[in-house]
Amino acid sequence: MIFAKREEYIKLRDEVRKFNLKELAPVADESDEKESFPLDVLRHAAGLGYVGPHLPEQYGGMGDYYAKAVVYEENCRVSFGYNLSLNASDLIFANNIARHGSEEQKQKYLPGIIRGEKTGCWALTEPDAGSDALSITTNWKKDGGDYIINGRKTFITNAPIADFFIVIARKPGSTKAEGGCAFILERGMQGLSTGKPFRKLGGRCSPTGEVVLEDVRVSRDQLLGKEGNGFKDMFASLDVERAYTPLSSIGIAQACLDEAVIYVKQRKQFGQYLSEFQLIQEKLAVMSAELEVARHYVYNLIELMVRGKRITKEASIAKLFASDMVNRSAREAIQIMGGYGYMREYKVERYFRDAKLLEIGAGTSEIQKLIIARELLK
Ligand SMILES: Cc1cc2nc3c(=O)[nH]c(=O)nc-3n(C[C@H](O)[C@H](O)[C@H](O)COP(=O)(O)OP(=O)(O)OC[C@H]3O[C@@H](n4cnc5c(N)ncnc54)[C@H](O)[C@@H]3O)c2cc1C
Repeated sequence: MIFAKREEYIKLRDEVRKFNLKELAPVADESDEKESFPLDVLRHAAGLGYVGPHLPEQYGGMGDYYAKAVVYEENCRVSFGYNLSLNASDLIFANNIARHGSEEQKQKYLPGIIRGEKTGCWALTEPDAGSDALSITTNWKKDGGDYIINGRKTFITNAPIADFFIVIARKPGSTKAEGGCAFILERGMQGLSTGKPFRKLGGRCSPTGEVVLEDVRVSRDQLLGKEGNGFKDMFASLDVERAYTPLSSIGIAQACLDEAVIYVKQRKQFGQYLSEFQLIQEKLAVMSAELEVARHYVYNLIELMVRGKRITKEASIAKLFASDMVNRSAREAIQIMGGYGYMREYKVERYFRDAKLLEIGAGTSEIQKLIIARELLK
């Protein structure tokens, strides 16, 4: 965790924290309640360099993956849903363009995302293909120099509001990791439509929905990476996504601990502050210990990733442990606050709902266990 202690990142963390307290915190509960994304906040954040700081400088970023980690954790401490949508746009969509795109594609798509003017999404999951990602049936075929894409994607973060889409499709008849292609699609292209936002348990200000593709015809310019390499590129990028995802757990768990610590110093029962009961102290101590262990591991993981190490097993360990940790932490925060914690007026109710997605999205906990075991046994 060497980088997280460096002065420049402490300064950045303090600045983002100040910005989030002023701009994001006041709208976090309302945007969750209304299920609407706080786009104004994102645009303002973009103006300060908090969108896509990891993306290359020539397109408007800072080329700094550590800065991305600092911003990510701070955002999740205030609004997980806000960061979920931002992440789909500047990390998953844009990072795939930065890693696998042509120079023209980078110039066309990255600056608008970094400036917060455009929103991206990344679409793999289908109604019948979730954990078993290679079983997707969305397909492409060639027609002259063009590609024609058909299929249906679901559970796609930002789909209802996105300007740009990366869609993963396979060649009919191809199997396993062969025949995959990633296409960059744009709203307004003939045959592409999106559904209404789904109603969800948590991350409610982040719109999630379907993408429907009916004979979408695109030229070769819209192919991302090499024809047939779609799945291989996807697996390489997924490690980066999985390295950051645990920071969501850390941000939410920190917020749970913060709320609980404040509360126990104010609430009295049996003539004593809750903070004086050792059973309550034990809960706080365990929450804090597990959080710090997870934070330390995840920041080290980010360093390994930046140094170009293979992090498949470590990213899965981080995601598995941190998502389990935050669900325990959110449950304990509510327990510490009793009936008040269960009420919507208190933020821990939202944190508890938000935490659940971390055991499902970007690969479920069961799938992380399978990956860890596969890596151990090979
Ligand atoms: C809010 C939200 C946002 C999302 N955003 C995106 C997005 O932007 N883009 C995108 O492409 N997808 C997105 N997803 C989809 C997400 O990645 C999938 O939901 C996830 O991968 C699980 O797939 P599934 O829901 O189909 O569950 P399934 O794969 O049907 O799994 C159901 C259960 O079975 C278990 N299971 C499955 N296979 C095995 C196995 N081999 N061994 C043991 N247990 C197993 C799972 O762990 C799980 O507990 C999002 C999902 C949600 C809820």
